[in-house]
Amino acid sequence: MKEIVCISGKGGTGKSSVVAALSWIAKDEILVADCDVDAADLHLIFAPEPEKSEEFYSGIKAEIDPSRCIACGICAAKCRFDAIHPVGNVYQVKPLDCEGCGYCFHVCPQNAISLPEQMVGHCFTSNTRFGCKLVHAKLKIGADNSGKLVAKVKNEAKQLAAALEKEYILVDGSPGIGCPVISSLSGANLALLVTEPSLSAQSDLERLWKLIQKFQIPAACIINKADINPNISHEIKKWLKKEGIRMLAELPYDEDFQAAIVNGNSVLEYNYTKWQPVFEKIWQALKETK
Ligand code: SF4
Ligand code: SF4
Repeated sequence: MKEIVCISGKGGTGKSSVVAALSWIAKDEILVADCDVDAADLHLIFAPEPEKSEEFYSGIKAEIDPSRCIACGICAAKCRFDAIHPVGNVYQVKPLDCEGCGYCFHVCPQNAISLPEQMVGHCFTSNTRFGCKLVHAKLKIGADNSGKLVAKVKNEAKQLAAALEKEYILVDGSPGIGCPVISSLSGANLALLVTEPSLSAQSDLERLWKLIQKFQIPAACIINKADINPNISHEIKKWLKKEGIRMLAELPYDEDFQAAIVNGNSVLEYNYTKWQPVFEKIWQALKETK
């Protein structure tokens, strides 16, 4: 089984559009994992129907049992995050300010404080209108630990792909180079970089490549909207060659991509004749990339 992770150093390069187009081409061979859990959007195109939903717990926050609290104020004095305040005759924790350090739990003379794990999101396994399965997740607003949730999505995807005897897992990774991206890359066989010719995308691409090299996995690249700045596209191509990264395709700026997303479609559904040969070629090249 080969795991291909589609990532971009910055958001807005068209990564999810590429994943959706490749998923349409390869729907019989793949299982898709949406690891962009902070801003998941593949579901808008795949229209998933969950067959399995699991709560995701991560991190702790303090809670005060008012029936035990004697309002001594020790916990509030010790909390370095100013997360505990008196309310009436007792003290209460402001959940958004609590960092879950656990100090208050240990100093309370009444054992009034507990540190329950927080339910911060859901992980889903779904059938999609493409025919392939999608493993995806939803993180609660403001919840952290998205890297841990990405790891869960990937594990679920791997198990399911093995059970279904799928040859490929296509992962839509997060933008940036933070914890969720590191988690997306962990255990992958190939990184598919989707970039665009702008100074910020070029800079982020180079930062991302430094991270990928630590995982010692090969990479291939698509320059999206390549014609909006031919000079930077040329610079990126030179850099790819120097770094030994396979250049897979230069896609032109085309309003089909926006129109397809607005309609909740992959670009192949929007204009099959034009885009099927392009993405078929990219998919075949990806399969050959070692
Ligand atoms: S330390 Fe315990 S008893 Fe004292 S105010 Fe805090 S929760 Fe209440
Ligand atoms: S767990 Fe730490 S941050 Fe949260 S309320 Fe207690 S002392 Fe403050």
